[in-house]
Amino acid sequence: MNKYFILRRNCPSCGCNDGIQLCRIAYSNSTLHEYLINFYKFQGGIEFKYLQDQDYILFECSVCGLIYQKEIPNDFLMHKLYNIWIDPQKCFDLYEKSRGIEYFAYLSSEIVDIIKHFDQPPTDLKFLDFSMGWGHWCQIAQSFGCTVHGTEYSQSRIDYARSKGINVISYSEIANHRYDFINTEQVFEHLPDIRTTVNFLIKSLKSNGIIKINVPNGWNIKKRLEKWDWTALKGSNDSLNPVAPLEHINCFDHHSLIELATHSGLVSIALQKKVESNTRNISKSLKKRLKRIISFPLKHLDSTRQSLNPLQELTIDKGTYMFFKLP
Ligand SMILES: [Zn+2]
Repeated sequence: MNKYFILRRNCPSCGCNDGIQLCRIAYSNSTLHEYLINFYKFQGGIEFKYLQDQDYILFECSVCGLIYQKEIPNDFLMHKLYNIWIDPQKCFDLYEKSRGIEYFAYLSSEIVDIIKHFDQPPTDLKFLDFSMGWGHWCQIAQSFGCTVHGTEYSQSRIDYARSKGINVISYSEIANHRYDFINTEQVFEHLPDIRTTVNFLIKSLKSNGIIKINVPNGWNIKKRLEKWDWTALKGSNDSLNPVAPLEHINCFDHHSLIELATHSGLVSIALQKKVESNTRNISKSLKKRLKRIISFPLKHLDSTRQSLNPLQELTIDKGTYMFFKLP
């Protein structure tokens, strides 16, 4: 291991040190090398001198089933990765500027569902978006009248969000507040110490508060690793994005996400959504969810969910998009 990496001796979710190595390959391997060049060339660019004499190692915890990268970038390299190899301005120009109405409509629809669940005026609700990115979710929740805080690692994104009127707070300031809802969207796959983070966050939930955790679903990642196709596009059947080197250092499936939450005393819930009667209005988003449900193996569904009727099924999110609360 080189000096820019640190070893995770134990599973970052359950703390167990028992597991099996799924793969170990040098970052200098030609396939990985090419993947990394292509992945970062438009976002900023990678500097291989920091990856010399370093292996990409995937472990599977034998207790909770989390698949995780055993050696991860230290603070210095993390900063380099998220600020230089991924250049915020280039990312903004590439992705954020061209986001279409569908993206914002989706965020709005999710926030409406959350507000409906609490059955309170939005002005009575207080939300936190943990690692908010550019702050789009915060802006929309704020426009409904909710009190919204955001946290973020990248200074460029913080500055942008503040310019849009978002109240950005520091990690330590979270402890001074109590929230009805904590949003974590595509965050926990990146965090070195997920157990500490989830325990810290839920201390700031109100008694009936909810935390959302949405992470890439790696339910069949071992099969994808057998194919070892680092050219497979994100979202395709063979994509290895859920175990992306350096960045996706934790790879969850439904089971291991439940295990993380259970260890912290959380229970999963479904939002109390009203089922729409006008199928034309809901057809697009629900068709997408139905596709996900159909393609998801039944063995991954718990017994209570299998007993639900098809319409109820459509109102509950599967896989690794989940809502939790304290009992
Ligand atoms: Zn574990």
